[in-house]
Amino acid sequence: MFEYQLKLSKKRKTVALKVTAKGIHVYAPYGACMTEVERWLSTKKPWVEAQQKRLSVGVQVQTPWQSNSVLIFGEEYAFSFGASSYIDHQKKHVVVKTSTRSSVKSIRVELINLLAVELEQYIDSKLHQLSTQMNAPVANVKFREYKSRWGSCSSQYALTFNILLAGAPKRMVDYVMVHELAHCHILSHSREFWQLVGQYDSNYKEAVNWFKENGKQLFIAKD
Ligand SMILES: [Zn+2]
Repeated sequence: MFEYQLKLSKKRKTVALKVTAKGIHVYAPYGACMTEVERWLSTKKPWVEAQQKRLSVGVQVQTPWQSNSVLIFGEEYAFSFGASSYIDHQKKHVVVKTSTRSSVKSIRVELINLLAVELEQYIDSKLHQLSTQMNAPVANVKFREYKSRWGSCSSQYALTFNILLAGAPKRMVDYVMVHELAHCHILSHSREFWQLVGQYDSNYKEAVNWFKENGKQLFIAKD
């Protein structure tokens, strides 16, 4: 077994487990049978080890269903379950419908769908004007989840944006839009390409660095 810190609560009805850089935390109801809790924890050992490994290599991805928080355009929103899925910007609250709770996969799908709508709305509100300014003939725009890139531009002028950008500050999303629109003129990352990016985002280097340092935080765990 692994070492953990136990926190008992009168309000709690179920046992929960959280792995952070500071250690392993177990939350249990007052009066819970510790033999049963330990038995349950022993079944979680592979998962705990996977989490610890991930923390040790410094890959910090979001696990909203454990941390109860999720990034929306650079701001931390509370994450919880409810009757339906929505994002409340005033209360900074992301709600995913309770029926998805049965598996991480379904929670994740629901959350990614919410993020896609957010990102699409934001990009829709800006892309047209930006593409006109940059004289970039965008043929169509798509959204999907990428593992290793923030956007792409095909030789047919189809742009694709990574849905996970919905967690980045809007200023960073703006940079990705400029970057992909610049690819409508120059496909390679040549000196001319970066000059063109610099014409429409004079501070683009700051954004490039931001993604290097913080990009991983936008990823959402798969387990
Ligand atoms: Zn590029």
